[in-house]
Amino acid sequence: MILAIQVLLNYYLTSTIDPGSFKDTTSPSYYLANPVSQDYEEKFCSKCNEQKPERAHHCRYCNRCVLRLDHHCQWINNCVGLFNQKYFVLFLFYTSIAIIYFFILLINRTIELISKHSMEQTLPEFDLLHLLLLGFLIIVLIIAAISILALLSTQIYLISKNLTTIEQEDRKRKHLQPNSSNLYKKYDKGSIISNFTVVFGNPSLYWLLPTPPNLLYKGNNKKGDIFIV
Ligand SMILES: [Zn+2]
Ligand SMILES: [Zn+2]
Repeated sequence: MILAIQVLLNYYLTSTIDPGSFKDTTSPSYYLANPVSQDYEEKFCSKCNEQKPERAHHCRYCNRCVLRLDHHCQWINNCVGLFNQKYFVLFLFYTSIAIIYFFILLINRTIELISKHSMEQTLPEFDLLHLLLLGFLIIVLIIAAISILALLSTQIYLISKNLTTIEQEDRKRKHLQPNSSNLYKKYDKGSIISNFTVVFGNPSLYWLLPTPPNLLYKGNNKKGDIFIV
């Protein structure tokens, strides 16, 4: 029950929360619009026709720039950006646990059925259908588990390096250029915990709960404040 609530709630939050657009001046993300790294070069979005902060990217599906855009996800019909990536990762995490839980239940039920008829030559029709259905569900769960766990592990790996999917792709594209392995290294805060804080906020006690990531510390920030994104 708790698992189901976590899955549904995180899905709802990641698909409905503003991932980090900064046009709306009443949005907290507006205050993040100031770049911070020392070698920041001013960037301009030709589609929005305005200056964009460091690590912001334009999403062609939503036609807007998003702070620390990771990618646009068709499954949630929203971008995954600075303010909803925590919920996205939690959704993947709890869905993975739910899949493993159902997988164990189905395997147990299959073993039960097989051992019940282990002495018989033929299975009753009902139990045969039951077994076929269990086999089908197990295959579906395995396929779902592989894709979700692959996505989850990629997200965890990138967050642990304070990188986004877009930056990682860019790094791969430029892999033949000198110093490409150091590209985006400037965002690495030196420890996995600190890098996770960028997406999951503080304190770490709330990382597994669907609470706001509290990236804007203490909530008394004003326009022009500088944040490390
Ligand atoms: Zn744009
Ligand atoms: Zn988008």
